Amino acid sequence: MTALQPLIDSIVSDMRKMEDKGRVADYIPPLAQVSPDKFGLAVVLADGQVLTGGDAEEPFSIQSISKVFTLTLALGTAGDQLWRRVSKEPSGSPFNSIVQLENEQGVPRNPFINAGAIVVSDMILARHEPREAIGQVLRLVRDLAGDDTIAIDEHVARAELETGFRNQALANYTKAFGNLHNDVDRVLGVYSHCCSITMSCRQLALAGRYLMLGGRNPETGRQVLSAHRTRRINALMMTCGHYDNSGEFAFRVGLPGKSGVGGGILVVAPGVASIAVWAPGLNAQGNSLLGSLALERLAAGAGWSVFEGG
Ligand code: GLU
Repeated sequence: MTALQPLIDSIVSDMRKMEDKGRVADYIPPLAQVSPDKFGLAVVLADGQVLTGGDAEEPFSIQSISKVFTLTLALGTAGDQLWRRVSKEPSGSPFNSIVQLENEQGVPRNPFINAGAIVVSDMILARHEPREAIGQVLRLVRDLAGDDTIAIDEHVARAELETGFRNQALANYTKAFGNLHNDVDRVLGVYSHCCSITMSCRQLALAGRYLMLGGRNPETGRQVLSAHRTRRINALMMTCGHYDNSGEFAFRVGLPGKSGVGGGILVVAPGVASIAVWAPGLNAQGNSLLGSLALERLAAGAGWSVFEGG
């Protein structure tokens, strides 16, 4: 294994020199205004060591990475009943696609596409007020990262809600099949606020520690989720974490990961490391272009892959 800090430093300097940085998401102004030159990387090892490079302390919009945390919360409360309402298959479709929902009777392909996360948000909402449900997710993320400063960007949340016509369509369509129990606007309020959580790479990598440690939060010593369910979340991150780019990511990086259109990716090397990268420019499928490349180099350099023969 290459020494980790020099490896991180060389990745940061290589990424800064790349000419093609991809395209920053432009569907809402607060994301369109982010500089494509930002690049951050944070690695938290199983022994607690934290290594960082570049803009690792700068908060960004975690967007769909929040789907990992909402799934964790919903699995903790609804348990395996959740899988009656959301499937576990890769979609092979864009993150906001509505096409499969009709054939599959309103049961979304997996919890990491928008339709799936909207159903998961409905479960978190259950008998709560949206404010309480959002508060629960934020509390979970803060507990996991051991950082009470993590917050929701209300500008992003408002912009998401004002422009979220596709998500409204997905929610209404799912509701037409009876797979959404709460009012569409309330569910989307929860969904959009979760997408609007802002975190730095350091905070995100710290929040991801339970995924490398069999569900245990080292911050509190508490089991966030059973080891069995945590392993399953990792499996879904591997197969569904990058929308219609999930196969390519598994092929190139070989680790479970979840991306967001803010340019962040949370990656787990089970038992070894929790990793967060941020590079706002996206590839055609809406995943961080340089983030994916950086992770490919990090995983290769450090010798991390869940497919290693040993
Ligand atoms: N807020 C975005 C949406 O719902 C999240 C998409 C993503 O990060 O992939 O459209």
